[in-house]
Amino acid sequence: MINKDSKIYVAGHTGMVGSAIFRKLTNEGYRNILTATHKELDLTNQKATFDFFEKEKPEFVFVAAAKVGGILANNTYKAQFLYENLMIASNVIHASYLHNVKKLLFLGSSCIYPKFAPQPIKEEYLLTGELEATNEGYAIAKIAGLKLCDTYRFQYGCNFISAMPTNLYGINDNYHPEHSHVIPALIRRFHEAKIKNIPEVIVWGSGTPKREFLFADDLAEACIFLMHHYNDYGWINVGSGEEVTIKELATLIQNVVGYKGNVVFDNTKPDGTPRKLVDSTKLNSLGWKHKIPLKEGLHITYQDFLKKYGS
Ligand code: GDP
Repeated sequence: MINKDSKIYVAGHTGMVGSAIFRKLTNEGYRNILTATHKELDLTNQKATFDFFEKEKPEFVFVAAAKVGGILANNTYKAQFLYENLMIASNVIHASYLHNVKKLLFLGSSCIYPKFAPQPIKEEYLLTGELEATNEGYAIAKIAGLKLCDTYRFQYGCNFISAMPTNLYGINDNYHPEHSHVIPALIRRFHEAKIKNIPEVIVWGSGTPKREFLFADDLAEACIFLMHHYNDYGWINVGSGEEVTIKELATLIQNVVGYKGNVVFDNTKPDGTPRKLVDSTKLNSLGWKHKIPLKEGLHITYQDFLKKYGS
């Protein structure tokens, strides 16, 4: 069992999810957390990864390292999204097997389910239909990672598990103007419009698609919960059940930022999938539920944005 003295490697600790896991572990009193920056350790490099595991011998591993981005980045850097994510998953999972890691948690994503999966999406819908073409590379790599966890459990008896988070947002998000996801994109756009007195803000698409959002710190808590309580095949959905239309989301962000101008929907931009809601019954029945409501999470996220980019 994981305890406060266990040696825990958080791969990807500078990213939004990894930093949330690192923060949560630290706040809960875990005192032997191992990290390495991208510069110190390139997880796409097999030898470097194997050497790191041989030297450090972590007991527990959270795999939050990945190449991630919104629809445009995924669609543009297709080869990088496939190659880098495949290499990270293969190297970290195999190194964990070679060096007898006691337990590993790998992260998938709700966007790797079939494009037209019935809603809410249950775990067993994976690989039952075509993937969304724009993020196929990312999805194939993440599906390979999930299957590595299950096959290493089957063949070698490794206690490797996986979680499938819904759309995430929070502290340390990526605010790139084109390559980010909708929440950081709109926080930035509304904020810039407010300080520059721009009369209108453009929101992509029709405003009608629905999305479920989870604050990254809630996901971190769920990951630590699963490290304690789940030891089996398969992947566990991690959602909030809090679903809003993009129009409702835009209004929420507009209010959080305090922008008084108009909101205009640009129908020439893609809507993406109409709805993406995961069924979190499995996780909820294990005894975990999210804590931070969307509105509160947006306030915290905007404060974090102001601290870093406010000026
Ligand atoms: P998705 O859940 O994989 O589609 O990821 P996104 O976060 O990129 O997009 C979610 C929804 O928000 C889509 O319907 C987008 O069209 C919409 N959206 C509205 N404005 C923006 C924006 O400025 N950036 C992004 N990425 N999406 C936006």
